[in-house]
Amino acid sequence: MQTKYLLSQNDVPTRWYNVLPDLPVPLPPTLNPATLQPVGAEDLSAIFPKDLIEQEVSQDRFIDIPAEVREVLQLWRPTPLIRASRLEQAIGTPARIFFKYEGVSPTGSHKPNTAVAQVFYNKIAGIKHLTTETGAGQWGASLAMACSFFDMACQIFMVRVSYEQKPGRRTLMKMFGADVFASPSNQTAAGRALLAQDPNSPGSLGMAISEAVEIAAQNPDVNYALGSVLNHVLLHQTVIGEEALMQLEQAGVEADVVIGCVGGGSNFGGIALPFYRRNVLDGTHTRLVGVEPMACPTLTKGVYAYDYGDTAKMAPVVKMKTLGHNFMPAGIHAGGLRYHGVSPILALLQEHDAMSAVAYYQTAVFEAAALFTRTEGIIPAPESAHAIRAAIDQALEAKEKQDERVIVFALSGHGFLDTSAYDSYLAGNLQDYAYPEESIRQSLEALPQIAN
Ligand SMILES: *Cc1c(COP(=O)(O)O)cnc(C)c1O
Repeated sequence: MQTKYLLSQNDVPTRWYNVLPDLPVPLPPTLNPATLQPVGAEDLSAIFPKDLIEQEVSQDRFIDIPAEVREVLQLWRPTPLIRASRLEQAIGTPARIFFKYEGVSPTGSHKPNTAVAQVFYNKIAGIKHLTTETGAGQWGASLAMACSFFDMACQIFMVRVSYEQKPGRRTLMKMFGADVFASPSNQTAAGRALLAQDPNSPGSLGMAISEAVEIAAQNPDVNYALGSVLNHVLLHQTVIGEEALMQLEQAGVEADVVIGCVGGGSNFGGIALPFYRRNVLDGTHTRLVGVEPMACPTLTKGVYAYDYGDTAKMAPVVKMKTLGHNFMPAGIHAGGLRYHGVSPILALLQEHDAMSAVAYYQTAVFEAAALFTRTEGIIPAPESAHAIRAAIDQALEAKEKQDERVIVFALSGHGFLDTSAYDSYLAGNLQDYAYPEESIRQSLEALPQIAN
C-alpha cells in the first residue's frame, strides 16, 4: 500500500482559487471602523498594498501566483499527503485517513504560504517595513522569514502570555532579523492605554492587532500584514487544497469529509475551499468540517454579526461569527485558535450549511495528539490536534457503521516548539474549560450597532 503522495516541484499550483464568485450569496461589505460605512480602497491603502486590496474583493475565480512567490513556495511545496495507516489500525477502523502535512515548511506550519505572497506584494508596492501581531508565534515566525527573503524590516507584537511561555518562536523570529515586542507594549498609544488599565494584562490577539495596525496606519512606508481571517489570506492558502485534490486523484479516492482546525480559518479554508468548488461546480458531496476549542467556540457559539477585528476598533469591521472583540481567552494551549472572530467567508458558508463545525475540550484533543504521535510519529501542533480529534471521531463512527469513508485532514503544523503544552498534558495538568455563556453574552453587547 502506498503511504505517501508527493507530486513534484512542477506541480506546485500556478494559480490560487478565489471562492468569492462561487459563494451562495455575495459577502456583506467590509466597513470602516470609524464611520461604519463600507470601506473604499483608499481606506485600506493606509495599511495594505494595492494588489492585496484587489484580491480581497476580486471576482476572478483563479488568480495567477507570481513566479517570484511560486519559486519560494517550491522550497517546501508540494507538501506530502500521507495515508495514516497506523492510526487507522490502532483505531480498528475501515475508514481511510489521509493527512496533508503543512509542518514541512521551514517554520513548521502552513503560515508561510500567505506570508511569502503578502511580503512580495508589499515589496513591489515600495513598502519598506511590515508590522504584525502573533499569538503562539507561528505567524510572526513565518512573516519574519518571508521578510528576510525579500529584504524587508519586520516588527512583531507577540501576545504577552505567549511571549513568556514560548521563547522558542521568539528566538526564531529574532534569528530572521525581526523586532519582537510583548503586547500590550509601550510602543503604541493602544498598548499604553491597555497597560494603564491592567499592567499585568496577558494580552490577546485583538490587542496585538491594535498595536500593529496603529504603527502601519501612521507611517506611509509601513504596512500591516494579517496571518488569517481575510479573504486574500484564505486565497493564498488554497495551494493546500489544490495539491490535495491532485494527490487524492493519484491515490484513486474521493474525499468524503475534509477537516481542519479553525482559528481565523486560513488552514481550513486553504484545504476546504477547492473541495467546496467541486461541490458547487461538479456536484460532489464532500463534507467540510471546521474544528475549534470549547474555550474559544467562535463557529459553534458565536453570533453571525458585524464586529471589530481588534480591541481598539482600528481594524476593518466585517460580518463574521464572533464572540465579541472584548473576548478574553483562557490560557489554553492552542494559542493559534484563540481569536474572537473568524473568516467572513467561512462564517457565510456555515450560515448556508456549506460547512459544519465542532468544538472539543483540551484533554480530548491532547489524547488524540498522543495517539497520533505514537502511531504516525509526528508530534502535532496543539492547534492541529483539534483536526486529528475530529478525524479520529469520524473514523470511530465509520467503525460503528462499517463504512470505508475517506477522511482527509490538514495537519497545519508540527509541535516541536510546543513541548511545554505536552508537558502539562503528560503531568495531568490540563484543565477542560468551556467559555462561559454569560461572558459570551456580555462580550456581544459591545458589538457595533449595525442593522445586520
Ligand atoms: C495559526 C495556526 C492555526 C490557526 O490559524 P488558521 O488561520 O485558522 O489556520 C492552526 N494551526 C497552526 C499550526 C497555526 O500555526
